[in-house]
Amino acid sequence: MTKKIVIVGGGLAGTIIANGLCRQLGSELRANEISIAVIGNTEQHMYQPGLLYIPFGKMREKDLFRDQRSVLDRRVAFHLDPATKIDVSNNSVATESGKTFDYDYLVIATGSRLRPDTVPGMSEGAHWFYDLDGARKLREALENFDGGKIIVNVNAPHKCPVAPLEVTFMLRDYIQERGLADKTEITYTYPIGRLHSLEPVAHWSDAEFTKSGIKSEVFFNTKSIDAEKKIISSEEESDLAYDLLITIPPHQGAQVITDSDLGAGGWVPTNRESLLREGTNNVFVCGDTTNIPISKAGSTAHFEADTIIDNLSSLVSEGRMARKYDGKVFCFIETGSHNGTYIAFNYTNPPNPGPPSQMVHWFKLAYNRLYWLSVRGLL
Ligand SMILES: Cc1cc2nc3c(=O)[nH]c(=O)nc-3n(C[C@H](O)[C@H](O)[C@H](O)COP(=O)(O)OP(=O)(O)OC[C@H]3O[C@@H](n4cnc5c(N)ncnc54)[C@H](O)[C@@H]3O)c2cc1C
Repeated sequence: MTKKIVIVGGGLAGTIIANGLCRQLGSELRANEISIAVIGNTEQHMYQPGLLYIPFGKMREKDLFRDQRSVLDRRVAFHLDPATKIDVSNNSVATESGKTFDYDYLVIATGSRLRPDTVPGMSEGAHWFYDLDGARKLREALENFDGGKIIVNVNAPHKCPVAPLEVTFMLRDYIQERGLADKTEITYTYPIGRLHSLEPVAHWSDAEFTKSGIKSEVFFNTKSIDAEKKIISSEEESDLAYDLLITIPPHQGAQVITDSDLGAGGWVPTNRESLLREGTNNVFVCGDTTNIPISKAGSTAHFEADTIIDNLSSLVSEGRMARKYDGKVFCFIETGSHNGTYIAFNYTNPPNPGPPSQMVHWFKLAYNRLYWLSVRGLL
């Protein structure tokens, strides 16, 4: 009988896994021993890291998108039919159109979503760049900005832990390039007692901020925003006035995870080495949607996906898992308009950001294009 592999979510993780399985299980697919289906909720695949460049007019919107079918191997059945309920007791996924997909193996890769609506005044009073509409509005606000107080306000949890730092450094250079540095003050707020969740990155940012004259306030947990008075207030009773507020809204997991009772906040309890949903042996979880306390990043999702491809292929062909995920993450960090650095780390080795260089910045720009090969599994 054909073994059915169902992947919910056709973003970075879901697409890489579907394509990787096709590569590794070619003969099983030809013999009809397995089938691979992706259940998605969007026709367009978006390269989210490219959103960082939109507010500064440094990337075309068109370059962020490809047709979802075009990035999937032709042997994958793609269903544009949002999942409404994942039933792990009965090995099935229900979708909006009323269909039920039974599976032998399931991969949950439904990512995360922005929840500005959970903070009073955030939707009205703040800008963000974490979705296309927000990035477009921020681009317009920056074009009209002629000096004043800018606050970059970080809320947790959120994906890409370095993007708030990147936008701050790029903002500093943008303001300088527009001749507004003398009449602009940038302040960065962070919810815990240092500038970043990863301690070495926090120390490194501290020094970089000092060099650049960027101010900061830690222990700033956003309570509310008064859009009319342009004041952001924290639970710690700090009130900051702003002319332009750039926020990283708090995130939650996908609605379907909450609706299926699979994890608080939409984060699925996941074994950090096997990437199996806790308590199951045929449900893998990948990318932002896991509850593993590591960076929610595309590179995390990619390294996890590679592990799942190997394990799922081995389970199908040999009846056993192949290897463990070691927590590997690699992130480029833009440190301004022309320079960049990177961090690489895993569960046991902490990150250590090196001195910024133009070469790493160019690597990041190159990767922005190479992504389309990488997501197809060609890189
Ligand atoms: C501005 C910005 C900059 C970033 N920069 C970087 C960077 O430099 N480096 C880096 O490594 N990462 C970066 N990231 C993070 C990276 O994009 C995400 O961590 C990555 O996309 C996570 O992959 P994923 O597959 O888990 O989720 P996603 O890629 O978000 O995919 C989830 C998919 O599931 C779909 N879905 C949700 N619910 C359902 C449902 N009910 N039914 C069917 N489908 C559903 C979604 O529509 C989506 O297509 C950045 C993100 C942003 C926003």
